[in-house]
Amino acid sequence: MSEGLVTVSYIASTILFILSLGGLSNPETSRRGNYYGIAGMAIAVLATVLGPKVTSVVPVIIAMLIGGSIGLTAAKRVQMTQMPELVALMHSLVGLAAVLIGFASYLDSSVHFTGVEKTIHEVEIYIGILIGAVTFSGSVIAFGKLSGKISGKPLLLPGRHMINLVGLLAVIWFCNLFLNVESGGAGMLFLIVMTAIALAFGVHMVMAIGGADMPVVVSMLNSYSGWAASATGFMLSNDLLIVTGALVGSSGAILSYIMCRAMNRNFFSVIAGGFGTSGGTVVATDGQPQGEVQPISAEETAELMRNASRIIIVPGYGMAVAQAQHTVFEITKTLRDRGIDVHFAIHPVAGRMPGHMNVLLAEAKVPYDIVAEMEEINEDFPETDLAMVIGANDIVNPAAQEDPNSPIAGMPVLEVWKAKTSIVMKRSMASGYAGVDNPLFYKENNRMLFGDAKKMLDEVLTALRAG
Ligand code: NDP
Repeated sequence: MSEGLVTVSYIASTILFILSLGGLSNPETSRRGNYYGIAGMAIAVLATVLGPKVTSVVPVIIAMLIGGSIGLTAAKRVQMTQMPELVALMHSLVGLAAVLIGFASYLDSSVHFTGVEKTIHEVEIYIGILIGAVTFSGSVIAFGKLSGKISGKPLLLPGRHMINLVGLLAVIWFCNLFLNVESGGAGMLFLIVMTAIALAFGVHMVMAIGGADMPVVVSMLNSYSGWAASATGFMLSNDLLIVTGALVGSSGAILSYIMCRAMNRNFFSVIAGGFGTSGGTVVATDGQPQGEVQPISAEETAELMRNASRIIIVPGYGMAVAQAQHTVFEITKTLRDRGIDVHFAIHPVAGRMPGHMNVLLAEAKVPYDIVAEMEEINEDFPETDLAMVIGANDIVNPAAQEDPNSPIAGMPVLEVWKAKTSIVMKRSMASGYAGVDNPLFYKENNRMLFGDAKKMLDEVLTALRAG
């Protein structure tokens, strides 16, 4: 394939990626957005493999077959609830690729730059490895935290801001040394030391994040992985990789900003690292009840639903764990057939990844027009007869508004307690991801429907249909 055709293909891919991002911004067009993305990536891969820069196609195809089979198997096996962990792992691979390509570019003896070009090339390598290493180690720790392999509690080392600052100064200092050496050996040593500092920084940055702030970290690492890919594009002089990386990097940054707003965190302190831990301490509840709760049965729940004229359903992570979305759809359909007004309220950080609940509800074919974002629906709770909380906890925690010392203080939440009655469906009194007790459970107008969400909803549906 000629250089000209490769350029045309790259432009086509870029347009398709932009259309893809546009499509993904809305649940109704997201499927189309995905198709654009797939088409763009297929063209990009073909043009790159068949282009003039690849001199031997066989090793590339072997690598693609190995990588593709691992990716396919992982994607087929992964449970919906493990999706965030998988995404974190994927980000770590982008970071690792940037590090490896950085070292390979430095060792590549076929490239001979002199003067300013040499400096620019070395800066590209240095920055590429730096971002790649932070993305790699940060994503591995995020994977550990999301999968529960590492505690969600923030690790607060004494003088941690100072540690970060010293690390940053050391990285700048080594960059200066790296750019001023002639011999490859000494340059390699500086690169290795910087990589070690960057890896340690990535670990430290994510370890210091409290459980409630993980959504911002997930989208921030998404952004970092884009910038790592972009830096790789500079090292390889590949325009498409530069543009695609920048698209991922900037859309991830915008998403981080949206998540920060949703959680009432300051965007700039997030960028600087070390956030979400200054407001309070994580309360260890150890599952100990902090008051009296009023349990309710599935039959009584169905009775309350039948007598309501307006119901808001709030899905959370537990709905994903129980895979209860299809039963939720059946219940919604039954209620709407009876003329009851049913809406869904989606908190921006519900579940374990951005858009988690939207994906599940769309999969269950819940109509988009009854699914509302938090800002649209929060003021409707006082006029609502029943707020049905399905496997959600942190996102409906009134402590965010009532307790200034709470680790989630200031985070906007769905005000379900303002409904005439609220029902929380979960298996126990255990806390949610942020590890904080939830005063909602003890409110006078709240009932607890204990059990697995799928099992309890099946019982509610049977009772509803029988009544
Ligand atoms: P939470 O983690 O706060 O609560 C989920 C609740 O679901 C738990 O308290 C659990 O209680 C219950 N549950 C678990 N399994 C089941 C089941 N099978 N049946 C019924 N209930 C079940 O989830 P939320 O969605 O309310 O809030 C999301 C949290 O995750 C926030 O703290 C957010 O910051 C964080 N987060 C979000 C990310 C995102 O991008 N959306 C990314 C990373 C973290 P029990 O064990 O008693 O059943």
